[in-house]
Amino acid sequence: TMYETIQEKNDDINAFVEIDLPRAQRTAENIDRRIKTGEKTGKLAGLVIGIKCNINVMDSTISAASPTLKEYLGSYNATVIERIMKEDGIIIGLTNMDEFAAGSSTETSMYGPTKNPSAEGRIPGGSSGGSAAAIAADMCDIALGSDTGGSIRNPASHCGVMGFKPTYGYVSRQGLLDLAMSLDQIGPFAKDTTGLALMLDTITGYDQYDPTTFEGKPDDFMPETSNTSLNGMTVGIVDEFMDVTDDKINAQVNKKIDDMISLGAQVKELSFDDISLGLPTYYLINYVEFFSATRKYDGREYGERIEEVCGPEVARRLEIGSYISQKEFSGKYYKKALQARSLILNDFQKLLNDVDIIAGPTVPKLPHKIGEEISTMDMYSYDVLTVIANITGIPASSMNAGKVDGIPVGLQLQAKPKDDHKILSTMSALE
Ligand code: GLN
Repeated sequence: TMYETIQEKNDDINAFVEIDLPRAQRTAENIDRRIKTGEKTGKLAGLVIGIKCNINVMDSTISAASPTLKEYLGSYNATVIERIMKEDGIIIGLTNMDEFAAGSSTETSMYGPTKNPSAEGRIPGGSSGGSAAAIAADMCDIALGSDTGGSIRNPASHCGVMGFKPTYGYVSRQGLLDLAMSLDQIGPFAKDTTGLALMLDTITGYDQYDPTTFEGKPDDFMPETSNTSLNGMTVGIVDEFMDVTDDKINAQVNKKIDDMISLGAQVKELSFDDISLGLPTYYLINYVEFFSATRKYDGREYGERIEEVCGPEVARRLEIGSYISQKEFSGKYYKKALQARSLILNDFQKLLNDVDIIAGPTVPKLPHKIGEEISTMDMYSYDVLTVIANITGIPASSMNAGKVDGIPVGLQLQAKPKDDHKILSTMSALE
């Protein structure tokens, strides 16, 4: 069973930071009993689910891998957790991540780093590295992560699994400890599109507790998983995305694009000059929104004062976020970032209007070795291809595109807002 796999491998991989076996057993027994009595069971019945430790699960340690919240027990279930429980998903435990999801390597966790099960000695990516590693190592069927600037797609790419960031507003963020609320979106990891579809069908849809969710519920995702053709589809390739990426990674991605052509797709070359605006715009917004979101961690009601216990990356974001937030600077930095955000939104929308899907690499370089010292800029540069989707709110996914030097690399697919189905059906044709 998957629980045995966790027991066997987790000490080494460190994908899970907390396991709740009694709760999982209670769920499993409940499902068995209902199967025996002929009662209906939910669409996740029997599936083992891992949850990133920044999503509230009642009575579990929702620390966001930070000493700030090391003793904080979830006092309620996030909306996505309620929905998983309603569909009989077996929540086995919490997965590792970068502190407050601020990172791309899962090395800044207070629980220590997670190993990449698919690339010896390497980081699994981040910030949802535990969730991606848990899928890659067969420790669970589906895992949840959060993606603010790539944190689902980046570790999916490095670990060789599938990851999906839905359109902003498709999934409730109620119960997610936010990194940057205008960019964050919860989404699934799995080995195949069926796993992604099951979870998307479970967690998408309006939530009265999150006013940024759209009314109603998107069409079922499951039918997309039987798609086998890309006839009539136009795939956009953005020159600048390939220009910033390692040649060896591009070679793998190009093979996938050739597969898309064999399946009936047409290719269109696109150009996106704003690529250099992506990272500065993203990090500015991230710092300001993160600073604001963390003012509640003042050590008075619960936890520790964040500034006193956090690691260097979180400290940097708080310091710069606070500086930018001061009144006298308003207009100088943050307003500029918002202007750049709408520029990027406009220009990228124009590209998307000409095609069905934009395909390219997920991450421009291979994951570094665990513990290898890299500069802040080198860490941020992992995100250059993923932040666009968060800045614009569009859906985006990553799936494996083969290996370079034995290390998995990812194909990223992006589409217009609410075209999540098109991305999933394309992944299905390619899997
Ligand atoms: N690596 C990016 C950051 O550090 C993205 C993180 C995320 O998506 N949560 O902000």
